[in-house]
Amino acid sequence: MVDLDLQGIGMTSRRTRERLISRLKEKGISDQRVLDVLLATPRHLFLDEALAHRAYEDTSLPIGFNQTISQPYTVARMTEALLADGPLKNVLEVGTGSGYQTAVLAQLVDQLCSVERIRPLQDKARSRLQRLKLYNVTLRHSDGGMGWPEKGPFDGILVTAAPAEVPSELLAQLAPGGRLVIPVGGDLQQLKRVTRLENGSYTTEVLEGVKFVPLLSGLVR
Ligand code: SAH
Repeated sequence: MVDLDLQGIGMTSRRTRERLISRLKEKGISDQRVLDVLLATPRHLFLDEALAHRAYEDTSLPIGFNQTISQPYTVARMTEALLADGPLKNVLEVGTGSGYQTAVLAQLVDQLCSVERIRPLQDKARSRLQRLKLYNVTLRHSDGGMGWPEKGPFDGILVTAAPAEVPSELLAQLAPGGRLVIPVGGDLQQLKRVTRLENGSYTTEVLEGVKFVPLLSGLVR
C-alpha cells in the first residue's frame, strides 16, 4: 500500500479514523483489504477546508456543483462488492467527483480509469490523487454513461451516480467474468451488481437500497 499523507488538520488522529472503521465493521463491512485502505486514506483531503473537520463521520457531504462525496460506508460496500471474486486488473469508475472513491479503488486494483462530466471537480480530484502519489489512475472529462471503450474491456466497473436503467454501453464494456456495481433508479434506488458470465449472458444481484445523485448526460466545463 502507498504511504499516504495524513498530516494537515486536527481531526486526522488515528483514533478518529479507527472509530470510523469500527462503525463500518458494525454495519457489516468485513473485507479486511477494504477496511485497511479506508483507514489509510485521508478523506479530509477530499473536502473543502470548511467541511474537513467532518471527514471521518460516516456521512455524505457536499463538494460543490450540487454533488456529494459518497458516505464511507457506501464506498466500502461498493468496493467490497466489486472485489468480492478476486483481484481486478483493469477497472473503470464513472463519476470521479471528489476523487475519494477513486483513491480507495486505486490502492486495490492494478489500473483505474475514471471519468467525470464536471471539469472543475475533475481538476481538483486530479491534484489530490497526485498529492497522494496514486499514479495508476487515468482521468478523463467525459460522459461516463458511454463508458470508455478505448480502455476496455474492464474486469470491473463502478458507477457513483444513478441512471434510471443500467446503460447497455457499460454492459458491453465488461470483460467475460467482469462485474459492474451500480446504483439504479430515481427516488428509490437499488445498488446492483451485474456479472458478465463466460457465455456472454449477465446475472444481476440486488445488494441494498441506496441514495445517489443522478447520472446526467452532457459536460460542464
Ligand atoms: N465517488 C464520488 C461521488 C461523487 S457524486 C465521491 O465520492 O466524491 C457523483 C459524481 O458523478 C458527480 O461528481 C457527478 O458530476 C458525476 N456524474 C454524474 N453523471 C455523470 C456522467 N454521465 N459521466 C461522468 N460523471 C458523471
